Amino acid sequence: MPEAFIYTSTPGRIVFGSGTLAKVAEEVERLGCARALILSTPFQKNDAEALAKDLGEMAAGTFTEAAMHTPVAVTEAALEVYTQTKADCVVALGGGSTIGLGKAIAWRNDAPQVVIATTYAGSEVTDILGQTENGQKTTVRDPKIRPETVIYDPDLTLGLPVAMSVASGLNAMAHAVEALYAPDANPVTSLMAVEGLRALKTALPRIVETPEDRDARTDALYGSWLCGTVLGAVAMSLHHKLCHTLGGGFDMPHAETHAILLPHTAAYNAAAASAELARATELFGGDLGGGLYDFARSIGAPLALADFGLKESDLARASDMAVQNPYKNPRDITRDGILDLLTRAHAGQRPITT
Ligand code: NAD
Repeated sequence: MPEAFIYTSTPGRIVFGSGTLAKVAEEVERLGCARALILSTPFQKNDAEALAKDLGEMAAGTFTEAAMHTPVAVTEAALEVYTQTKADCVVALGGGSTIGLGKAIAWRNDAPQVVIATTYAGSEVTDILGQTENGQKTTVRDPKIRPETVIYDPDLTLGLPVAMSVASGLNAMAHAVEALYAPDANPVTSLMAVEGLRALKTALPRIVETPEDRDARTDALYGSWLCGTVLGAVAMSLHHKLCHTLGGGFDMPHAETHAILLPHTAAYNAAAASAELARATELFGGDLGGGLYDFARSIGAPLALADFGLKESDLARASDMAVQNPYKNPRDITRDGILDLLTRAHAGQRPITT
């Protein structure tokens, strides 16, 4: 029997399935728009230009300089192109970096957004925007930030490199694990979280074996949609706060940091949130932290923060930073507890559930 809860469903139109890239024009029109500025990173420039060609007059132009952590200077340059080209909406084609740029534009000028998500990070279904200026990363939440329409076409993910697929998939799974014990969790977000974990747990090993397995890619994208949706619906705790500390304070890479920390943060909270995590724990063989670690290891995920430049001498400062701003978490956040967690994650050791 569910306890009392509050559930707010989030708006947003999801167009899912192989071949749905062909629906961009229809979706732009549906939003009452006629001139889309197509966004991408330099790496996906060819895809953005091909899409602009397909859209013909409906493409106002392309801006292909999206960068990690949404630098404000890049947003300002894109806004100038938006105005010059008389665009009336944005179409973001890519992962969290490109989606962040679309959100940053929309936050400033309320541009309608169509997002074509090509990683598993989940940003496309949240109202969260992280941006950087003068070396500082700040986060804002605003209904204007949440994209109106998201297209998930698994065909676009067939070429997502295996290492990125693995790290990005674990990044998505971290949203689901934290959603299960969120202070504002509800039966709907918990259903989505468990189904997201299940889909990614079955999909990622198949992707590692055969990166172009369309069915596995479809399952993974489906899982990432569910995990992203719960990220946008309920509050995140220890795991996301620690990743934010390491990303912002130590320049650690986004998806890999999530992938490495997930088994450790799950183990940290496992006993304090055993009832909330029960279905996830069962999925991972009865020990969530250890099971996630074994799973990550089996699919070749990164395991040690040390491999990404974090020094042993950084761990004390990172622990101090992590306990500065209190927030709700199933288990008390103590400096010693965090230092112990980070020390194991730094060395790539299997977590111990306490
Ligand atoms: P990314 O968007 O930085 O992509 C990494 C690289 O992979 C880029 O060069 C990109 O062009 C390329 N790429 C993406 N999809 C590809 C594909 N299918 N095939 C080949 N190459 C592809 O990586 P990410 O992990 O998706 O996003 C990370 C960023 O997103 C971070 O800045 C993070 O803070 C942000 N993020 C925000 C939220 C939110 O809700 N605000 C949620 C998750 C992540």
